[in-house]
Amino acid sequence: MSAAFHGAEFCWMNGEVVETARALVSAMEPIHLGIFEGIKAYVEDDVNGRGKLNIFRWRAHVERLRRSAAVCGMKIAYSDEELLEGTRRVIGANGFDTNVYVQPRIWPRAGVEQEVHVVIPVWKFETLLGEGNPRFSKSRRFMVSSWRRIASDALPPQAKTWANYGNSALAQREAARLGRDGAIFLDSRGFVSEGTGACIMAVRDGKVVTPPVTASILESVTRDTLLEIVPPDLGIPVEVRDIVRVELYASDEVFLCGTGWEITPITSIDDLPLGKEYPGPLTKRIAEYYSNVVAGKIEKHKKWLTYA
Ligand code: PMP
Repeated sequence: MSAAFHGAEFCWMNGEVVETARALVSAMEPIHLGIFEGIKAYVEDDVNGRGKLNIFRWRAHVERLRRSAAVCGMKIAYSDEELLEGTRRVIGANGFDTNVYVQPRIWPRAGVEQEVHVVIPVWKFETLLGEGNPRFSKSRRFMVSSWRRIASDALPPQAKTWANYGNSALAQREAARLGRDGAIFLDSRGFVSEGTGACIMAVRDGKVVTPPVTASILESVTRDTLLEIVPPDLGIPVEVRDIVRVELYASDEVFLCGTGWEITPITSIDDLPLGKEYPGPLTKRIAEYYSNVVAGKIEKHKKWLTYA
C-alpha cells in the first residue's frame, strides 16, 4: 500500500512531522464534529525564475478554524505560530516547491472533546487560473440541487465541520447521477445559497451579486477577498443581497469562488445557457486579477501573503 496521501509522504500531526501512513486516529474517536480548513500556497516567481511559496490569507483561515472549533466546543492547543511552523515544516519535509494545498484537520477525542487531534496534510494542486488555462474554460453544466443547504439553526454552514459536507456530497451525487458537472444549493428559505464547496457570484448588467452570510453560506475567504478587491481595483460594483433562483437563469455570467475552486465559471444552470459568451468577460477579468493577487504580483495585496 502506498504510504503517501495525494503524493505527500509526510504530514504534521500533534506537533510532529510524521509519515502520512502513520498519521492515524482511532476508529473509536467521535467524528461528527471534526473540522478542517482548506488553504492554498501559490508560487511567486522571483527574478531567477525560482519558485517562492506564499500561503494566501493564512490568518483568515486560522481564525476561521478557531471559530469552527469554538462552535463545536473544542480548543486547539497549538498557537497560530505553531500551526504555521508545522505547515512550513511539512511542506519542507515533502520537498514541495510548487503550488500546495494545506488542509488542517481537527478531530475531537472520545470523552475529551477539548483535547483534539490536529493533523496538517499537504498536497500539490494544479491551478485553474492563468491566461489561456484550458481547465478554466472547460464546459460546466450545473443544476440547482433538490437538496436544500443546511440551515444555520440546524447545522451551521458557517462552521467548517465535515458533517456539513454530507449535505454537499448528496448534492454532488445527485448532480453526477443526472449527468451534470455540479450543483448549486438554495437555502431553507428558497434563496440562492452556495455551491457544494464554493460561494457563488452572478453578473447582472455589469454588476456582481452574491448572497449574504444569512443565506446559509460559509464565510468564504475568497468571497471576502473579491468583495475587497473587485470594486476598487477593477471598478466593478459588487452587491451582497439575496438572489432568487430565476435571477441565476437571467444572469450574464455565473461563477463559483473558493480556495479550492478558485474562480470557476459555469456554462449553464438547469440546461439554460448563461449569457452570450463563455467564460464571461467579467469572470475572466476577475479570475486574471485574482491570480495576480495570490501570486504576489499586486504590491498592495501582499499583506495577505505569508511566506511558506
Ligand atoms: N462554501 C463551502 C461550502 C466551502 O466548502 C468553501 C471552501 N472552503 C467555500 C464556500 C469557499 O470558502 P473559502 O473561500 O474560504 O475557501
